[in-house]
Amino acid sequence: MNDTLPAVLNCWGCGAALDSGDNYCRNCGRGQGKNIPWYYGHFGIVVLTVAVMGPLSLIFVWRSPLLSRAAKAVYTAAITIFTWYVVVTLQKLWQAANSLLSGALPF
Ligand SMILES: [Zn+2]
Repeated sequence: MNDTLPAVLNCWGCGAALDSGDNYCRNCGRGQGKNIPWYYGHFGIVVLTVAVMGPLSLIFVWRSPLLSRAAKAVYTAAITIFTWYVVVTLQKLWQAANSLLSGALPF
């Protein structure tokens, strides 16, 4: 019966079969279990979104093996709202800078 066999493990990235002791996929090289890269975790996604990548971090959200479907939906909504907020803020700054400059310059 099935319960006498060891659990069949598959790579979260490429789906290749893994041996139970494998820390990295033999096919694609992705870390497994504790060796899943930090940027697929909650902390990594937040830091990358705010500090570096903005909406590009959605790639990691959607591919992450560490987040549930619900967590991915929450992150997608939060990153979309964050991106919208940054764009609106930059647009306001741009308009303020423009009006300052156009008032200060004689031409
Ligand atoms: Zn793999």
